[in-house]
Amino acid sequence: MNQRAYLDHNATSPLRPEVREAVEAALSLQGNPSSVHAEGRAARAAVEQARAKVAALVGARPEDVIFTSGGTEANALALAAPAGGDSWHCYLSAIEHPSVLAGGRFHRETTTLIPVSPDGVADLAVLAEKLEKHKPGGWRPLVSLMAANNETGAIQPVADAAQIVHEAGGILHSDAVQSAGRMPLDIRALGADMVTLSAHKIGGPKGVGALVLAEGVSVEPLIKGGGQERRRRAGTENVPGIVGFGVAAELAAAELSRVNEIAELRDSLEAGVRGLAADTVIFSDRVPRLPNTSAIAIPGVKAETMVIGLDLAGVAVSAGSACSSGKVEASHVLAAMGVAPELAQAAIRISLGFGTGNTDIQYCLSALAGLIKRLKKDAKEAA
Ligand code: PLP
Repeated sequence: MNQRAYLDHNATSPLRPEVREAVEAALSLQGNPSSVHAEGRAARAAVEQARAKVAALVGARPEDVIFTSGGTEANALALAAPAGGDSWHCYLSAIEHPSVLAGGRFHRETTTLIPVSPDGVADLAVLAEKLEKHKPGGWRPLVSLMAANNETGAIQPVADAAQIVHEAGGILHSDAVQSAGRMPLDIRALGADMVTLSAHKIGGPKGVGALVLAEGVSVEPLIKGGGQERRRRAGTENVPGIVGFGVAAELAAAELSRVNEIAELRDSLEAGVRGLAADTVIFSDRVPRLPNTSAIAIPGVKAETMVIGLDLAGVAVSAGSACSSGKVEASHVLAAMGVAPELAQAAIRISLGFGTGNTDIQYCLSALAGLIKRLKKDAKEAA
């Protein structure tokens, strides 16, 4: 097979070999975790072991982990309005993932967007100003601010936001899907009341995630019926998926020691791209970013052309914009940062992960060099 460099870990990280092994073994667990017999108890034990590992990744208690079908469902559950009968008003940063921006059960009239700076960081002064208007006894604020952005990697001021939100009597949810394993995460240090995780961004299986609660926080179930997940998410557990998630969480926590190495690889990639095209723009490079993420635009070169050209050359990256349906749409993240549409259309996202090495970076740079040379030649001939 031809050589490939997979640099799209923010879309999904390949399954880790240790996870594959654990999932394969878990497929042989016959019992339903809710059954009292030996087979059921064995499946229950596997789920609970995984729960402890996922809890440890964010410094939470195992009983506060609710397994879901992924990050999207966990976000929807967080935004389904917490239990307790209060009336809520929802505040979302403008750069949240679409599954948060959809707003759960909140209607547009009860949702407010919080703007971000040109570097892609949520503007907490605006949040504070909006929350000041909340009167005791009125609507309670439910705020969602991601730990780091999936397109630019920009790390968000979650702990500071939590302080503002709590002073206003509200609660804070943080989508940490892209941050797990890429920066230290601790639900108490973040000050978050709810944290979303997804297995497939950390080398686990697709289709499994979790909403993790701070001590004492409760949620209204989205999916009702059975008493699974302490009555917070009905349905027989996805035992192999959950087991794989547990192993991936354990490995992701250990991987934190490799963060500097990944950041160095990312930096050498960015230096290389700048060497190929001096006018390269790197988004959010003036603020703290995830070590693995690089959102790059070479003015005048369309993202689709780059993504297809790189793919043909053996390098997998994403268009910076959302591409959930195979069709590239304008990036709401770059738009919220005030990036001009022509530049946003050139944005690609290169994201590193476990297993990425210098060979991948050099391979990507040589593919980019060939592509840029060809595109420049084509542009000259067309002129
Ligand atoms: N939140 C963020 C920040 C993401 O990047 C993603 C996936 O791209 C999700 C949520 C959705 O997670 P899942 O694919 O597990 O539904």
